[in-house]
This record gives sequence, structure tokens and C-alpha cells, in this order.
Amino acid sequence: MNADIQQLHGSELREAIRYWLLQTDVRQLAALWATADQVRREHVGDAIYLRGIIEISNRCIRRCAYCGINASNHRISRYTMTMDEIVECACTIEKAGCGTVVLQSGEDWTLTPLWIADTIREIKKRTSLAVTLSLGERLPEELRQWRETGADRYLLKIETSDKVLYDRIHPPRGKEAPNRFEILNQLRRLGYETGSGIMIGIPGQTIDILTEDIITLAGLDVDMAGSGPFIAHRHTPLAGYDDAIKPDGQAGNDALTTYKVNALLRILCPQMNLPTTTALSTISARNGRALGLQRGANVIMPNFTPLPYRQCYEIYPRQTGGNNSKEDILHVIKKTVHSIGRYVASNRGDFVQYQLRRHNNPKRGEGVHDYAAV
Ligand code: SAH
Repeated sequence: MNADIQQLHGSELREAIRYWLLQTDVRQLAALWATADQVRREHVGDAIYLRGIIEISNRCIRRCAYCGINASNHRISRYTMTMDEIVECACTIEKAGCGTVVLQSGEDWTLTPLWIADTIREIKKRTSLAVTLSLGERLPEELRQWRETGADRYLLKIETSDKVLYDRIHPPRGKEAPNRFEILNQLRRLGYETGSGIMIGIPGQTIDILTEDIITLAGLDVDMAGSGPFIAHRHTPLAGYDDAIKPDGQAGNDALTTYKVNALLRILCPQMNLPTTTALSTISARNGRALGLQRGANVIMPNFTPLPYRQCYEIYPRQTGGNNSKEDILHVIKKTVHSIGRYVASNRGDFVQYQLRRHNNPKRGEGVHDYAAV
């Protein structure tokens, strides 16, 4: 089968994605990697965008079965960074050559809308960074307030398009709470550049579900999609998964499956910003990042959380650079980028078509996106 799947729809597209997810032949796969790399070069070029992450709080009210900072884990110390620490860290991120700061946290309702707005305002005053928020499922009026204060982007992964699997790993906050598809629509309407993504190899995610996840994510019309392997954390209900015998049809949570998903996404959404995730570098520390970048990705998200806090933000174990200083991490990243003949971009890396798309489609975000039909 040709690696060019852009023209396919419906059952043909589904079949083609399944074919690649099940593919083990090295020569066939080389064709998939080459197509993804070529599409990446033609549509987003050789620049690599650095988005510096600050994990501003590990407090969380949710009980996500996959996540190490879920509310049921009483073995970690909880923290919230001060506004001064966050702003100082954002300045370091700008000096290091990143165009974007990503403020990430658990779903922490002690982070008040006003405090977040003040933090955004302060970062905007002191730097020229794009500000991305990744604070979980917050309320429409909060999202509006932050957008009006100057936040540029919001990151909220759908994790999987399968409603049954999603509810199992991500117990809902309440009956009235909106689902992530609705929030993504709100974000688009508010004019955020919107990022989403899936986890790869979640227990119970079959190849068929993963196929649907890829198609759903590609059809979401988001500006960025980050997809990394599920990594079991010992203090979660999914602990021990790595040693368990997997049922037939279960999608792998391995590096190869991750490369395939991201290569397929690049081919299906040529202009999308696609990060090579920290989760991938964690399971494939030697060359995961470089291979991710050579198989479709164009974004890296280095972690700038100050060390004592970073150790407490353990959503999954063994995060790359867990004990390294930010200077070490950046040095390694820049070396990797240069070794594969690419360069670190000097601008913010806004989605290529973002302004154009908003201009041509002012109703953007009003489309219907929801869980895949079962
Ligand atoms: N509270 C925010 C930020 C969560 S952490 C939110 O829910 O959006 C960001 C991402 O890390 C999650 O969306 C999920 O895709 C990923 N993640 C969490 N636990 C993981 C695990 N055990 N393995 C791999 N990825 C994980």
C-alpha cells in the first residue's frame, strides 16, 4: 500500500491506517517515514519550534486512572508555584530561545481565574512569548477571560475518541461538565490556537479504537496535536500494566506505534504543528526525539519547571531530563536538532494557516465534533 493516504476517506482510510498500525516490515515502514518527512519539509519546513513548559501546579481534583498526579495519589507533595517564580521562569524560557511558554497544571481550582489572568498579563509585560495554557477542563467564562487577557493558545488532549474507554480512564467531573470536544469548540470560537492529542496504547485501546482516534484527531481542525505513548505509573489504578499480558488487538504503547501515529497525522494534516512528546523521549531516551523529528514532528517542548517542583510533577515515571538542569536539556536538544540538519526557529511558530483560516472561516469552532460513534 502506498504511504500516501491523503486522498482516502471512510472505510478506505480506516483500512489504510489499520494497515500501517499493523505493519512490521522495515522497508514498508521506511516508505511511511520518508513520506511523513517529505510532507513535513514541504509544508512546515526545517524549522523546529521550542515551547518551554512550566508545570505551575500539581494539585488536581480529578482521578484520571493514567495520571500520577491524580487526586487519589497521597504519596506526592503538592505544590503551586508563585507568580514571581512563574514569571521569572518565563523570562528564562525566552532567553533560552523558545518562542512560547506553556503553563501546565493539574485541574487545580485553587488557581483562580484572576490569578491566572494576572500571571498571563505579567508574562506578556515582561516577554514577547506566546502563552499557551494547559490547565484542564476550565469554565467558558474563565477561558474567555484568559483569552482577553492575552493567552494565545490552549492545549487539551482528547486522550481517546472512544467514549467508553475515555470515561473509564477519566471519570467525569460531574454530569453537567462539558466534554473535551465541546471545550475545544469553545476554545476555537474564542480565537485560541487550539492543541489536542491522544495517548497511544492506553489499556483497552484496540487497534480499531486507535485507528478511530487518529481519524478523529485529524478531523478536529486543531492547530497542534501531541500524541505520546501511555506510560504506567505505579501510584495509579493502571500500575503494573507494562508487565501484564495484553489481549489480542491491543494497541502498543511503544515507540514504533508512536512514530506510526505521528507520521500518519503529519500526512493527514500536512500543516499541523506536531510535537515529539516527552513521553516518547522517556521510553526511547537514546534516539526517540531525533526519530520523532525525522518522522513528521516539528515541535519540541522542553521542561523548564524548577527542579524541586519538577520531581513532584510526575504524571508518568522517568521523565527525560528529570534531574538535569535546563542548560543541559537545551544543549542536548540543540545538538539533536543540528545533528539531523534542522534548525531552531527564532519566531513563535504560530500555526501556518491560523490567520488565514480564521479569516476564511469566521464560524470556525462551530462544527460538530464529538466522540466517535460506537
Ligand atoms: N491537567 C491537564 C494537563 C495534564 S498532563 C489536562 O488534563 O489537560 C498533559 C498530558 O499528559 C495529558 O493530557 C496526557 O495525555 C499525558 N499523560 C498523563 N499521564 C500520562 C501517562 N501515564 N502516560 C502518558 N501520558 C500521560
